Amino acid sequence: MKKYDIVIVGAGIVGTSIAYNLVPYDVSVVLLDKNNDIAMGATRANSAIIHAGYDPKPGTLMAKLNVEGNRLCERLCNRLDVPFRRCGSLVLAFSEEEEALLSELLDRGIKNGVPDIRILNQDELRAMEPGVSEEAVAALYAPSAGIVNPWELALAQAEVFVRDGGDLFLNTEVTAIRENEDPTRSGRYTIETTIETFETNVIILACGIHADTVHELIATPDFRIVPTRGEYYLLDKCEGNKVSHVIFQCPSEKGKGVLVSPTVHGNLICGPTSEVLNDDIEDTSTTSGKLSEIKEKAARSVGNISWRDNVRNFSGIRANSDADDFIIRQIPGKKWIFEAAGIKSPGLASSPAIGPYVVKLMKQRGVCLFEKKDVIEPNGEHYQSYCLSRSKVHFRDLDNSQREDLVKRDPAYGRIVCRCEEVTEGEIRDALRSPIPPYTLDGVKRRVGTGMGRCQGGFCGPRIVEMLLSYQKEELSMLASMKLPDEDAKMFSGALSEKDFPLDPGEIHLLLRQDGNGSNLFFRREAEADPSVIVSPEEKTSSEADVSKACASADKEVDV
Ligand SMILES: Cc1cc2nc3c(=O)[nH]c(=O)nc-3n(C[C@H](O)[C@H](O)[C@H](O)COP(=O)(O)OP(=O)(O)OC[C@H]3O[C@@H](n4cnc5c(N)ncnc54)[C@H](O)[C@@H]3O)c2cc1C
Repeated sequence: MKKYDIVIVGAGIVGTSIAYNLVPYDVSVVLLDKNNDIAMGATRANSAIIHAGYDPKPGTLMAKLNVEGNRLCERLCNRLDVPFRRCGSLVLAFSEEEEALLSELLDRGIKNGVPDIRILNQDELRAMEPGVSEEAVAALYAPSAGIVNPWELALAQAEVFVRDGGDLFLNTEVTAIRENEDPTRSGRYTIETTIETFETNVIILACGIHADTVHELIATPDFRIVPTRGEYYLLDKCEGNKVSHVIFQCPSEKGKGVLVSPTVHGNLICGPTSEVLNDDIEDTSTTSGKLSEIKEKAARSVGNISWRDNVRNFSGIRANSDADDFIIRQIPGKKWIFEAAGIKSPGLASSPAIGPYVVKLMKQRGVCLFEKKDVIEPNGEHYQSYCLSRSKVHFRDLDNSQREDLVKRDPAYGRIVCRCEEVTEGEIRDALRSPIPPYTLDGVKRRVGTGMGRCQGGFCGPRIVEMLLSYQKEELSMLASMKLPDEDAKMFSGALSEKDFPLDPGEIHLLLRQDGNGSNLFFRREAEADPSVIVSPEEKTSSEADVSKACASADKEVDV
């Protein structure tokens, strides 16, 4: 049984944004996810656009969080050393009716507070983006739109959270949530999962396409998730500069339509389609029919895409819902359970604002959160800003003299493992020692970009598997030497006794922490959290009357 002040369920971009925004507070927090890594749901497979915010209906929470999230994203990515580019977006109109739609979007954009948005005529459009079809007669230009690496943003937020003392349980599916009869003894809620039982006073649900079924574990949901698959083409870097802006077509009832966009890695992405899934809601396969649809629709925007330079096809599943806004709230009748549900597109763009919004909502609803003491770190930075940033080596982006210095300091950076993406052994080793190390080939790819190039890992894959195995063996022998109590050793059962550490992520459940020096990773079970720290307005400073007042004011509106 583990005890925490706050349990967050779901480690996508939303759950990790909330976890990251709780870092400055003196509370014990655990992040749970049923998958074997961070960002394995919609956050892993989407268009990666930081939308400007002209699409959502004015006055909705979605409109507000989209524009605010877009504003916050660049600074957040700089702090977390995550690739982001404010490249701007263009919505193309191919007819007079669509031109009228552009005016509507412009009007919405202005109402939503999107900066510098305007309509371009055909000449201006062609001057700005020569690659677009000559049939496009006008475009809505939103210079604030951007592109990002979505899974790295989620991972970076989670890494900071773990590095700063948060706990992470992967491969941990929440299967039951119960209200406790005697909350003073054990916390308000018990959460059953596939590997461990948790007790807590506050729960935050951020479960993507499972938002309604997880909600159902504690109350009857008043919304329904409509999982909607979107398929994509990813084209090689030689196609990456076909366009320099995100190119949309006019949106319809079904969504934002097929886009053509550069990616932060230098590729070209085309898609997505839109298909409601009724049976297997996690089915991320791709189909020849939908891929043909993408080719046809994308060619309408940008004529000369070389489809032979396709390096990958993939699909992601949107958590569309039957509500026409994000559902971010305290669950009705459950005072200490919060949820972020129906976080469809523009959920990624909104995410930098969703974390702060949820933290503010919690405070307004009576959850007592006290900031950690701000101290000056040895490097002269304020703890509060230091603790929210991270950085890593990007060998590919260095000039020759920087590379030379780096290799002198550490020869591992002089050995290229992934030739397509120029990723070095040193960078892979850093990832393996990071606060949340990967333990699959795909996990290494998401952290350092190996296998993202033309050969798709054909050349570097075997070497990376070797590195993964040797690192994991090293960690396991260290773990074995730590003489873990039985309960801890149990967490690693099936792995310790085997000759070769299995790559099957289902066999190991990691509780990840970094040591005080900030470099070596080790696995340990924490001492039981002190339940007296638990965030409880009754037990801390507020009286019930204060709490009711806070709830009443939060019912009005929560500013981000
Ligand atoms: C095709 C497509 C294109 C998109 N394009 C864009 C775009 O360009 N720009 C944009 O802003 N947005 C876009 N979006 C939307 C964006 O990707 C999502 O809004 C965002 O990723 C949602 O994040 P999340 O954390 O809510 O969900 P997820 O990333 O799905 O995370 C939910 C997590 O909850 C975990 N979970 C679920 N149930 C349980 C359980 N019982 N126990 C433990 N863990 C559980 C899952 O494993 C998962 O990791 C797109 C989405 C799709 C699918």
